[in-house]
Amino acid sequence: MPELPEVETTRRDLAARIVGRTITDFALLPGAERLLRGVPAAALRDRLCGATITDVGRHGKYLLIGLGDGPILVVHLRMTGSLRHRRLGAPPDDFLRARLPLDDGSELRFVDVRKFGTLDLVDDPAEALSKLGPDAIDPAFDLKALWQGLRGRRAPVKSMLLDQRFVAGIGNIYADEALFLARLHPEAPSGSLRPAERAALHAAIGQVLRDGIANRGASFRDYTDADGAEGGQQYFVRVFRRTDQPCDDCDATIRRSIVGGRASHWCPRCQPAAQKRRRVRSTRRPAARRARSAAASLSPTTPDGSAP
Ligand SMILES: [Zn+2]
Repeated sequence: MPELPEVETTRRDLAARIVGRTITDFALLPGAERLLRGVPAAALRDRLCGATITDVGRHGKYLLIGLGDGPILVVHLRMTGSLRHRRLGAPPDDFLRARLPLDDGSELRFVDVRKFGTLDLVDDPAEALSKLGPDAIDPAFDLKALWQGLRGRRAPVKSMLLDQRFVAGIGNIYADEALFLARLHPEAPSGSLRPAERAALHAAIGQVLRDGIANRGASFRDYTDADGAEGGQQYFVRVFRRTDQPCDDCDATIRRSIVGGRASHWCPRCQPAAQKRRRVRSTRRPAARRARSAAASLSPTTPDGSAP
């Protein structure tokens, strides 16, 4: 699933090519109606045709295509979507769902194997983004914001990183990679993180996302950039989908477990589970039963309770 680095790669490619271009048509291919979340295709076409693209922005995993003073086209790639920029008449893409021809003889193509992606037109971006936390690489997501979201929480830190209401843009790949870099077990209760651990986690999030962008995203399955090319970050992951392979740092065998319903990959030596953690005094509503039992399963090994 495309996460922040994959969507940012697409955003950068498109911003360099389509800003200033005018949309000349909009065509939805048969069977792709659910991409539009209930907006009739004809209404979308009426509003898009003749509009000039003035900006390509992003918040978390959402692409925001600005149309001057008009509405904003909000695109979410979900599981298997990608947005491609092709010459008009270029060979067809498999799983093409929608086309937006532009006035320079090119077109935007929305390609999506599973059709979970969405195209939406909003007049105020707040409509689309109201439920999202700060973008994970925005300066607003600083160490203070990280701790404001985690303190008092019993939920596993992995689950919080995936919660887009807390921070927007991180998915399963970069959550596992950030926790490895920060030397934190995915099931560590969020509110138990010590100051040094919080700082390590904040730095690790920035690092893995910047690395992902530098390598043009990770293509484990369907993600491709605006030219239909794969990214390279999948060759540099340390733990994600490396179950039973040796850890680069310590040679221990990478493990896989389910945390908060999601597959998690971690090194048992670099990210020990059995460290004695402070009890989290919850200042929030009671966490899910699953989170409590996960916290309870952490048993102490180090006599002084120090972090490794
Ligand atoms: Zn290791």
